[in-house]
Amino acid sequence: MTQSLIFALARGRLLDETSSLLTELGIEPIESLTGSRRLMFDTRHPGVKLLVLRATDVPPYVERGGAHLGIAGKDVLLEYGSDMLCEPVDLQLSRCRLMTAMKKGIELPAKGRIRVATKYVNIARRHFASQGRQIDPIKLYGAMELAPLVGLADVIVDVVDTGNTLEANGLEPRDLIIHSSARLIVSRVAMKTRHQHIFPMIEKLNKWTKSQHAS
Ligand code: AMP
Repeated sequence: MTQSLIFALARGRLLDETSSLLTELGIEPIESLTGSRRLMFDTRHPGVKLLVLRATDVPPYVERGGAHLGIAGKDVLLEYGSDMLCEPVDLQLSRCRLMTAMKKGIELPAKGRIRVATKYVNIARRHFASQGRQIDPIKLYGAMELAPLVGLADVIVDVVDTGNTLEANGLEPRDLIIHSSARLIVSRVAMKTRHQHIFPMIEKLNKWTKSQHAS
């Protein structure tokens, strides 16, 4: 008997948006993914199990074979930076912009390193390097918006949706780094060894994404 196909999902806002996608694939979980402390779930599809992970843990699980495929934001994928992951479908879920933001009316220091509060240290380093600036990264896991207010950082790099959180904290968006959305990711290895299961899923999800955004 072949081992189950393991599908890694990200906890949080993206998980809420993936339920209709799972229905489309016929892999509904047999119990609620959000109301349990369980990390691995059986589904109505006998050959598929689901993992529910932190968003940043989805790429390493898929890359290292802990899962065959998964769903991850483009922001998280760029920060992780692996060339062992394929991104066959842009699911167009959880769309947001990755931006720099600063206190209103404040400019970057004219010289020296820029203090950047972010969980996207690699992306921030590359972004400011493209402007010829070096950064002093301050890795935070939440509430980035606070860092410029208390003088911890000159600038933040974070995801922005409506911009309300920036506005509520006296910050304003500056540079757009990327538009992000959720992607189906598959390890290069699983793409070969599990293609008979994974290719039909890719086809279904391509159709599903088009139908969701047709109108
Ligand atoms: P907003 O106030 O709508 O701009 O949302 C910004 C807040 O929500 C920030 O704290 C972000 O970290 C978070 N956020 C916005 N969009 C996303 C997303 N697509 N995925 C994860 N977090 C997000």
